[in-house]
Amino acid sequence: MATTVKLVNTSGAPLPDGALVGAALAHANGAEVYLNGVRQADPLASRGRLVAVLERIREAHGLDPTIEARGHAFREILDQSLRLLGRLEVRPVYEIGAGGLSLDYFRDFLTVDAALGYAVLLLFDQGQPFGTALCRCRLVRCGRFYLAARSPQGGPANRTYCTPEHRAESHDSAESRTARKRRRKRSATRPK
Ligand SMILES: [Zn+2]
Repeated sequence: MATTVKLVNTSGAPLPDGALVGAALAHANGAEVYLNGVRQADPLASRGRLVAVLERIREAHGLDPTIEARGHAFREILDQSLRLLGRLEVRPVYEIGAGGLSLDYFRDFLTVDAALGYAVLLLFDQGQPFGTALCRCRLVRCGRFYLAARSPQGGPANRTYCTPEHRAESHDSAESRTARKRRRKRSATRPK
């Protein structure tokens, strides 16, 4: 069964950027996204588009860093997101907590696709941490999109596999492949 992500976005609890990007990645990975109880209009089509966009963002961060150099296809993606957000209302909201008053912004997304379109813009934005952290698990049976993060125990960020389990699984199967090859070679050269 497909997993679901239920986003709640109200002026009392505006959705933060990280939650929007997380929902977009979850949707690309197969989840259905709801916004304030309303389901996406065409989740299959939007997933296909989103996966293609995320692949492009991954490519882009490894290539030329200027938007101009990325050509027409990127502008099309960006413009599509902007069209979805054409009538987006943004209202400042404040919260008074223990540390005093803090200002936030409530973005009143009308549809799930508009919210995900905003997430796509956040992933493209060089000033945000999301695009450069975007990775896709190399374990073939997984292939999940995720944001690379450093382990709290230290060491480099997990840019190749989404979890330590998938790293281990992939390495095991690579090792068994090499072992099989070695066995085959040995039996081929063995004198009859
Ligand atoms: Zn994985």
